[in-house]
Amino acid sequence: MNYVIIDRGDPLSKQLAEQFHLLAAERGLSRNDDAPTIVISIGGDGTLLKAFHTYVDQITDVAFVGVHTGHLGFYADWKADELEELVRMMTDHEPRMVRYPLAEIQVETPEGTKHYLAVNEFTLKGVDGTLVAQININDELFEMFRGDGIVISTPSGSTAYNKSLGGAVVHPSIESLQIAEIASINNRVYRTLGSSVLLPQHHHVDIMSSKDQRMLLTIDHLNIQRSDIRSIRCSVATRKICFARYRPFPFWNRVREAFLDYDGK
Ligand code: NAP
Repeated sequence: MNYVIIDRGDPLSKQLAEQFHLLAAERGLSRNDDAPTIVISIGGDGTLLKAFHTYVDQITDVAFVGVHTGHLGFYADWKADELEELVRMMTDHEPRMVRYPLAEIQVETPEGTKHYLAVNEFTLKGVDGTLVAQININDELFEMFRGDGIVISTPSGSTAYNKSLGGAVVHPSIESLQIAEIASINNRVYRTLGSSVLLPQHHHVDIMSSKDQRMLLTIDHLNIQRSDIRSIRCSVATRKICFARYRPFPFWNRVREAFLDYDGK
């Protein structure tokens, strides 16, 4: 098994990465930055996003494992003091592969179409003022949006930015996208639904710029600022992100532990 480590860069994460390399070498795991089969993220959920985008071109060939060095992560479920157990599990056991949906976006600019994948969400905001956009669902006008921005999240991203906007938390087995508004203005010209909307796997949403405007497109943690975005089409991607699970940790337990701090007793 070939592995690579992406760490957050803080002293603890770097130290754990070194420790992992030593343990892995003792047990015959090979380090391979170019063609890994397992990508180990050491840090937080933000580190997993970085790891995902580093290996996005090989996404169908790699599986991710997360070690967290802070509070519980949605993507990182091994603790800093469990490295030995993780390495032992990686050498002695076959993991269960758990696949989560991704969001795919096509960005139309005068230069052509660009494709991106997001594991949490993509966010569109205006740079110089409010974002003004027409939103179509399945090629039909749905609403005229004016406001701070729009967040389109995956099920596993529903606990991130989407949740801060009052969106629903969605189980990753539901292949869907959620559209959430950031501070929409509602009047006679611009009218939005106000609540977040869940789209199934076979639907798509287009966000079409209604005026010349500079937009900030954020794909997970990556920012792209452009003034020539004509439209963005978003749908559930055909590719998925794969996590190698060596022990169960159900999604609702993660939600409970992260947000409710409830031990079930
Ligand atoms: P950041 O601003 O440094 O951290 C954002 C926080 O979101 C971190 O605490 C991170 O956890 C957490 N997080 C990331 N993915 C999550 C998930 N799927 N479920 C629950 N929490 C999650 O930015 P970053 O580390 O580069 O992460 C980028 C993400 O920040 C974006 O994808 C977006 O979801 C989120 N964000 C949230 C808001 C908001 O809630 N108002 C605003 C902007 C962006 P860790 O500490 O474990 O890394």
